[in-house]
Amino acid sequence: MKLFPVRGGVHPDYRKDRTSESAIVALPLPQALYLPLQQHIGAPAEPVVAEGEHVLKGQLLAHAGGAVSAPTHAPTSGVITAITDVTAPHPSGLPQKTIILEPDGKDEWAVLPAPIADPFAAEPEAIRRRVAESGIVGMGGATFPSAVKLGLGTQKKIHTLLLNGAECEPYLTCDDRVMREYAAEVVDGARIMARALGAPKVVVGIEENKPQAIAAMTGAAKATPNVEVVAVPVQYPMGSERHLTQAITGLETPARKLTADLGVVVHNVGTARAVHHAVRFGRPLLSRVVTVSGGAIAKPGNVEAPLGTLVSELVEFCGGLSEAPRRIVNGGPMMGQPLPNLDVPVVKGTCGILALTAGETDEQPPGPCIRCGTCVTICPCGLVPVEMASYIRKDNLEAAAKTGVMDCVSCGSCSYICPSHIPLVHYFNYAKGALNALDRERRKQDATKALVEAHTIRVEKAAAAKKAAAAAAAAKRAAEAAAAQASETSADKQANP
Ligand code: SF4
Ligand code: SF4
Repeated sequence: MKLFPVRGGVHPDYRKDRTSESAIVALPLPQALYLPLQQHIGAPAEPVVAEGEHVLKGQLLAHAGGAVSAPTHAPTSGVITAITDVTAPHPSGLPQKTIILEPDGKDEWAVLPAPIADPFAAEPEAIRRRVAESGIVGMGGATFPSAVKLGLGTQKKIHTLLLNGAECEPYLTCDDRVMREYAAEVVDGARIMARALGAPKVVVGIEENKPQAIAAMTGAAKATPNVEVVAVPVQYPMGSERHLTQAITGLETPARKLTADLGVVVHNVGTARAVHHAVRFGRPLLSRVVTVSGGAIAKPGNVEAPLGTLVSELVEFCGGLSEAPRRIVNGGPMMGQPLPNLDVPVVKGTCGILALTAGETDEQPPGPCIRCGTCVTICPCGLVPVEMASYIRKDNLEAAAKTGVMDCVSCGSCSYICPSHIPLVHYFNYAKGALNALDRERRKQDATKALVEAHTIRVEKAAAAKKAAAAAAAAKRAAEAAAAQASETSADKQANP
């Protein structure tokens, strides 16, 4: 397949060899599982179980809280010991409503939904419903509910399901291992998703630095005419939906548009495997593969962990910490988020846990901008980071918005390359948060204004109707009085001719 060039990008030290040869190992059941109600983008899930209740593996614990939401299921059998606030796996360290499940050790399954016998003959809606009911979200870290994304095929003409196996973040190898060890499951799940989308073909994009994954996926796809595996250049951020789409199709996604507007929907390889389990076996999303790496991890590896496992248990399973980490990161070092501590749970979007040493983080105090323009050259979105940062520093968010800060995909390439170590992406994340908050506030004010205006119109209409009714009643009374007067006059005339 012909590939197309993608603008900008960087080549960080990938350090994937630390875990790329570590086969996926299943984590033994932890002492307790902590399942936040918000493990996805959208409305939090709503609990359907109570404290003290015994639940079975795969049983629904919380249903989706809205059209864009995802349910949560029990990763094993046991007792719900609490539904309470627990520190979220987020840099804020803020608490989040969480279901705590104490495993009973039996790992006893609930009765699961029946498999969809022939997904390629099934209605696309039936597949989407199964994916929604199984709590599947974007496993690459985006955590957008997958069924909603699969529904894009009902609104737009989708010609390609692009399966994202690029895994361009340094250190992370969980997708690589999933493709190498479960290629048939991934290909089957991708074909099922294409059916749900109404997409006639599947293209799997894998960075060239994963030759075994490319071979395994090519082998699994051999018998399927509509699945093609493509090796894409190693170039961070190739795993971004927009850039992978551009490399494969040559089409550039316009700012504030979706790849679906170009007829392409992108899903992660782990998501495809989860769809395979849900459709073929009725199994909801209960666990995920996590890369545990970084210089401070004694035995880095890839672990399939039940959702809700504490990061501390995961790290312990990987031999614990060999030295005090400088930073704990949820995800990759480029786009991941620092964690407040190890006592936070693995959730649906946790693709990596990194315990980085001081040498690996290479934190240096920022210096002044030397106007070298490197950040401009490498920005894969064609933005001018130096200019946007300058506006944000002056608190001129409007100007930053005009120069495209909302189109920034937060890839961190500019911060990585800046010779003055200016944390540019932090500025952009701050600005995007502030602009989103302003936008929400503006929309709230507009909605309130519209409500007030509607109320005023209703009141004015009611007052006008009341006035009209009073005028009509007065006119009626006057007409009746006039008629009575006329009748009296006529009677007088008859009596006194
Ligand atoms: S401005 Fe945004 S998109 Fe461009 S390099 Fe920096 S973080 Fe990436
Ligand atoms: S890379 Fe850093 S020093 Fe160079 S122009 Fe951009 S912000 Fe300034």
